[in-house]
Amino acid sequence: MIADMSCIFCAIAAGDIPAEVVTQSDAVVAFRDLNPVAPVHVLVIPREHHADVTTLSAVPELMAEVMRVVNEVAAQEELGDGFRVVFNTGPLGGQEVGHVHAHVIGGRQMKWPPG
Ligand code: 5GP
Ligand code: ZN
Repeated sequence: MIADMSCIFCAIAAGDIPAEVVTQSDAVVAFRDLNPVAPVHVLVIPREHHADVTTLSAVPELMAEVMRVVNEVAAQEELGDGFRVVFNTGPLGGQEVGHVHAHVIGGRQMKWPPG
């Protein structure tokens, strides 16, 4: 599926719903989370609709591009002391939006395990 217009992140990728974009490429968009849990909280998504990291991983070059942009965000946001990358996956993983997204979280000390 290229785009699902009932999907809020497809709409953000298309520019139909505003978001604070921090960087983007032909295949990927990175934008600030609406409800940040840390001083830096950016979501990195492929423009193409994939449900979760399991289906995205079936397209290795797109998965690699998402991770390249994750690193670009970390550099741009000056997260050289460390950061966290999270792909919530499925209901038990706490995934609420069904368009795969990497949370890039940083700017404060992270704890393990998360809640
Ligand atoms: P999930 O729970 O699916 O891993 O994370 C979804 C994330 O998307 C949440 O952190 C939530 O705050 C964020 N979010 C949901 N709707 C919007 C939106 O319309 N715009 C932005 N920028 N973030 C959103
Ligand atoms: Zn989508």
